[in-house]
Amino acid sequence: MDECIFCRIADGEIPAHTFYEDGDVVAFLDANPVSEGHALVVPKEHAETLPQLSGESTDAVFAAVRDAVRTMQDELDVDGVNVLQNNGEAAGQEVPHVHVHVIPRTPGDGLELAFDQDELDDETAEELVARLEG
Ligand code: AMP
Ligand code: ZN
Repeated sequence: MDECIFCRIADGEIPAHTFYEDGDVVAFLDANPVSEGHALVVPKEHAETLPQLSGESTDAVFAAVRDAVRTMQDELDVDGVNVLQNNGEAAGQEVPHVHVHVIPRTPGDGLELAFDQDELDDETAEELVARLEG
C-alpha cells in the first residue's frame, strides 16, 4: 500500500505531528483540525474499513483512543471529547485506511455534530434487532 497516505505516515515516510506510537498504532494531529487538539489514531496495519481490520489492531487502536481521550482531558483544557470513526464514502470517509478521530470539545466551540433524529417504533426496532443479531 505504497500510495496510502496513512501507511506512509505509519512507516515514517512522510512527517506527521505524532504524539503516540507503538508496534500497532500511531496517533498524530489531524492536518485540518475541527478543534484544537483534533487527532487521528491509526493502525499500522492497512485496512480500508473497520470490519477488515484484525482483532489485534482493533484492540490496539481502541486502547490508544481511550488513552488519547484521557490525555486530552488531563493535559489540554477541554471539557469533553468526541470519538468518531467513518467507514465508507457515505459515512464521510475520505482516507481509505482505518482511522479514529479524537476531537476535544469546549463549551461554545461552535462545532456541530448534531443528529436530526427520528423516534424509533417497536416494529422497526424488532426487525432491526433480528437482522443485527444475525
Ligand atoms: P475522514 O473524512 O474520516 O477520512 O478523515 C480523514 C482525515 O485525515 C481528515 O480530517 C484530514 O484532515 C486528515 N488528513 C489527511 N491527510 C493527512 C495528513 N497527511 N496528516 C494529518 N491528517 C491528515
Ligand atoms: Zn494504508
